[in-house]
Amino acid sequence: MFSNLQDNLDAAFKNLSGDGKLTEINVATSVKAIRRALVDADVNYKIAKSFTDKVKEEALGKRNVLKSVRPGDLMVKIVQDELVELMGGQSVGINIKANPGIVLIAGLQGSGKTTFTGKLSRHLKNKRNKKVMVIACDVYRPAAINQLAVVAEQVGVDIYKEMDNKNPVEIALNGIAEAKKGKYDVVIVDTAGRLAVDEEMMTEIAAVKEAIQPTETLFVVDSMTGQDAVNTAKAFNDRINYDGVVLTKLDGDTRGGAALSIKYTVGKPIKFISMGEKMDTLDIFHPDRMAQRILG
Ligand code: GDP
Repeated sequence: MFSNLQDNLDAAFKNLSGDGKLTEINVATSVKAIRRALVDADVNYKIAKSFTDKVKEEALGKRNVLKSVRPGDLMVKIVQDELVELMGGQSVGINIKANPGIVLIAGLQGSGKTTFTGKLSRHLKNKRNKKVMVIACDVYRPAAINQLAVVAEQVGVDIYKEMDNKNPVEIALNGIAEAKKGKYDVVIVDTAGRLAVDEEMMTEIAAVKEAIQPTETLFVVDSMTGQDAVNTAKAFNDRINYDGVVLTKLDGDTRGGAALSIKYTVGKPIKFISMGEKMDTLDIFHPDRMAQRILG
C-alpha cells in the first residue's frame, strides 16, 4: 500500500540524515520533497501545501527544544503527527443504537458497496452479536440484488428483497417494517450506484435517506480513483450529508491521495477501509495506524 509515497517520503527524511541539526535551509529542502511526494500520491496541491506549511512551522519550532533528537527522526515524528491530524486524529465508530439501527450505504457502481455490506454484516453478527438484515435497493440491476443475496448467504444474514418493485423508497420502508417485526438489531440498506455522479441517482438516494432516517449513512469510495474519489466524496456529501466514508481497494496499487485528502476536503471521517474481496476482514480506520503504514 502506498509504496511510492513511502519511498518518496523516506528519501525526503534521508536527506537530513547527514545533517547535525535542522536549519532553515534543510527544513525548506525537506519540506519541498515531502510536498512533492504528497502531490505525486494524488493529494491536491492546496492540501499538500497546507500540510507542509504546518510541518515546517513545527520543525522550526521544535528544533531548539528537542536538540538531542536526530533531525531525520524529528522530521519523521512531526510528519507522522501531522498525518494523523490530517486523517482526522482518532477513529470514529458508527451509530447503530436504535431498534433497529439503520445503516444506509451509498456510492458509485463498482465502488465496493455490496462487498462492504457483506463485511459489515459479518462483523456485526460475529463480533458484536447482532441480528442483521440487509435490504436490496438496487432496482436497476437484478444482478446486483442477486449478488447481495449471495453475499448475505455467505456471511449468514437475512436479506429483504422485492424483485418486481422498482421503488427503492418503498422497498427500504417495507424491509425496515419486516426487520422491526423480526426484532432485528441492525438493517443495512444497499442502494443503487451509477458509473458517475448524476442527478437521478442523487435524488433517489436523498429520497431513501429522507424516508428511512438512517442512524448512520456511509459513503463507499474506490481509493484507486485518486482525486476523483475526493471529488465524488464531496458531491455525495453536499447532497446527502453522510456520516462517514468507507475507503475500498486499499489492497490494490493505490497511491494514497484519497486516504489523505477526504477528511480535509469533505470534513467527514473515514470510518472503515476495505482491503480485499473476501468477507473475512473488516478494517476499522485508525489514523495513527495508517500514518505508521505510510511512513513504513
Ligand atoms: P458495488 O457495485 O458498489 O456494490 O461494488 P461491489 O461490491 O460489487 O464491488 C465491485 C468489484 O470490486 C467486485 O469485483 C468486488 O469483488 C471488488 N471489490 C470490492 N471491494 C474490494 C476491495 O477492498 N479490494 C479489492 N481488491 N476488490 C474489491
